[in-house]
Amino acid sequence: MLIDSPHTHYDLVIAGGGLVGGSFALLLAALPGSRALRILLVDSSPLVSGTRDVGKPFDARSTAISWGSRQIFQQAGLWDKLSPGLTAIRDIHVSDKGHVGATRLNSDQMHVDALGYVAENTHLNQVIAASLLDSPHIAVYAPGKIVDAKPVSEGVSLLVDTGTQATVQVTSRLLVIADGGRSSLCDQLGIALTRKPYGQHALISNISFEQAHQGRAFERFTDTGPLAVLPLPDLDGEHRAALVWTLADDQVDNIMALPDAAFLTALQQRFGYRLGTLTRVGERVLYPLSLTLASEQIRPGIVLLGNVAHTLHPVAGQGLNLALRDARELAALIAAAVDMDQADMIGRYQWLQQYVQRQQKDQQQTVYFSDQVTRLFSNSNPILALGRNIGLLGMDLLPPAKRWFSRQAMGMTDRQIRPVSGRHE
Ligand SMILES: Cc1cc2nc3c(=O)[nH]c(=O)nc-3n(C[C@H](O)[C@H](O)[C@H](O)COP(=O)(O)OP(=O)(O)OC[C@H]3O[C@@H](n4cnc5c(N)ncnc54)[C@H](O)[C@@H]3O)c2cc1C
Repeated sequence: MLIDSPHTHYDLVIAGGGLVGGSFALLLAALPGSRALRILLVDSSPLVSGTRDVGKPFDARSTAISWGSRQIFQQAGLWDKLSPGLTAIRDIHVSDKGHVGATRLNSDQMHVDALGYVAENTHLNQVIAASLLDSPHIAVYAPGKIVDAKPVSEGVSLLVDTGTQATVQVTSRLLVIADGGRSSLCDQLGIALTRKPYGQHALISNISFEQAHQGRAFERFTDTGPLAVLPLPDLDGEHRAALVWTLADDQVDNIMALPDAAFLTALQQRFGYRLGTLTRVGERVLYPLSLTLASEQIRPGIVLLGNVAHTLHPVAGQGLNLALRDARELAALIAAAVDMDQADMIGRYQWLQQYVQRQQKDQQQTVYFSDQVTRLFSNSNPILALGRNIGLLGMDLLPPAKRWFSRQAMGMTDRQIRPVSGRHE
């Protein structure tokens, strides 16, 4: 619910209504025990809640949502609104260019309807924004900006720049910082983010193929680094897919300078003809890649969620999925405090430590998985190439190894996961 000016005290203030901050707020609002909480969400941009980005239908950026994230979106009451715009991933084909090793992960083998889903980010953002604006339990202040945050005995004192009126002061038991990978709030609070650059960029674009993808996603390891091709809905008769192509920093200028036809030839050489001839490439956009981790995820009255806590290499498709699992755990802890009539605990350091302890293993495993898979498959050393080739072959032959890889790719943790819609693990 959009508000004109904030109250003076909240239980939770969420800075950032992007994919993670917005989903977290909606998870909280969906928990019956949390309805008693006073929640304010502040985003520095206006929340746009249309149905689709009509301006750029071919080009929206996409995100692979794991099977585990589907369950979290269901819990947040978002799934029914999201699902009509998603493409189910039924097969993941993992291969290494120039080598025989390959493995195929399949939804039937995992006894689920889909290994995951591909969402165009405009669709995700618009559904989340519309739900935030509709929710009577979440006060939304957007555009607005938290310009100062200071710890006080009852939590955190915040200065909110309302744009039109004077700056407003509010207090909150807990400040959830979800303002993305370039967090100005962390800068102000002196929370250091350690960045380990990969020496790579992700080139993102939408592409079209001659043949229908039939729900297949591809992870392919090439001389320039790993590339992912994710299935998207057809548009005006074109078979569309989303490309995430990792390039070493020194290759970026050459590849970006190629005219479309030459770009498609270079890509086809790396990807092969699994979907026939490439017919079109849309706008190409670059993202510099680093593994970025916050030095602290909690302080008294403060918790970090999403990219601000951990920004991962995108090719393994884990960043949002991990952040949603973090969000679910934090929401569950807050709900437990409310159930026990102890809402005053939610900003206490000891209480927040439970969140860190519960998510530590998942975060470490997921960061390790994304980082190691990326590094192993970005390396052209022939011994490593042989090793990963044997690894892919071995995985295809060894069901437990394949199952582990599948579970990781599907965003399943040890505490999870019961399949929905009548199918069983
Ligand atoms: C190329 C690429 C491909 C990816 N693919 C995948 C994938 O397939 N699967 C996957 O799981 N993950 C993927 N990711 C990761 C995923 O995009 C991120 O994990 C996710 O976007 C993080 O969301 P966030 O809400 O933390 O940050 P953001 O989406 O950046 O949102 C931050 C929000 O905070 C607001 N804000 C900023 N500053 C302030 C302030 N001072 N006060 C208030 N509000 C503020 C912004 O307006 C914004 O709304 C990919 C990432 C990239 C770069």
